[in-house]
Amino acid sequence: MNSEIPVEIKEKLSQFENIIGYNFNDKSLLFTALTHSSFVSEKKSKLKDYEVFEFLGDAVISLIMSEILMKTFPKAREGELSQIRSAVVSETYLAKLGRSIKIHEFIFLSTGEEQQGGRERDTLLCDVFEALFGAIYIDNNYSIEKPREIFNKLFKEKVIEDIKSGNIPRDYKSILQILTQKLFGIVPQYKFVSAEGPEHKKVFTMECVVENEITTSGAGKSKKEAETKAAREAYIYLKEKYKDSLETKSKSKKQKNE
Ligand code: MN
Repeated sequence: MNSEIPVEIKEKLSQFENIIGYNFNDKSLLFTALTHSSFVSEKKSKLKDYEVFEFLGDAVISLIMSEILMKTFPKAREGELSQIRSAVVSETYLAKLGRSIKIHEFIFLSTGEEQQGGRERDTLLCDVFEALFGAIYIDNNYSIEKPREIFNKLFKEKVIEDIKSGNIPRDYKSILQILTQKLFGIVPQYKFVSAEGPEHKKVFTMECVVENEITTSGAGKSKKEAETKAAREAYIYLKEKYKDSLETKSKSKKQKNE
């Protein structure tokens, strides 16, 4: 199977293997993980594209991330772990991890897809990133050990650091609302402050008001983006300020359930 891969492609594959520090037993698995369907139709070949591997890799990454979260935050409850996990397996975040190993430079795309900027699109980068871990999993007889080892070596520290610094694309408007309802029985209010600059690159500024507690502001390319930034700031502030009473609340809830 390996011998069917053209030399120039083999070279690219081995460059990528050097970056991730893993040599595939079956190089065709890596080739498939990096192959977009547009490349297959352009070449009119019998190559496989990454889609089925993506399906599998999605689950592989979710398992590895769950384990990292559970071990890093031993006191966190299921609801919070689920929220963080959905942020760290989000398209934006996995695309970011993919870029950090230059995965975009190794994807096989059709000329058309290339011209439309496919190589830079988060959706595609995330899919290929997932497919990569699906492929490593298959290459190790469907065992999680090796994918976990590689993932942890490349990303674990970074992921934990990003979570702790709030540097992950969480839906801060939703989690702030959950928090303020829990703490004060109210929802945050958003107020328009300004929209400045020329039509095609306007900057919006929005305020987030948590009554009697804090008012924050955020700026962004859309109202939503500005609100999310303001919400993030309020969330981080309240989470820290009320961390003791939040701990007690989840404890008493636990006792009630028992
Ligand atoms: Mn996907």
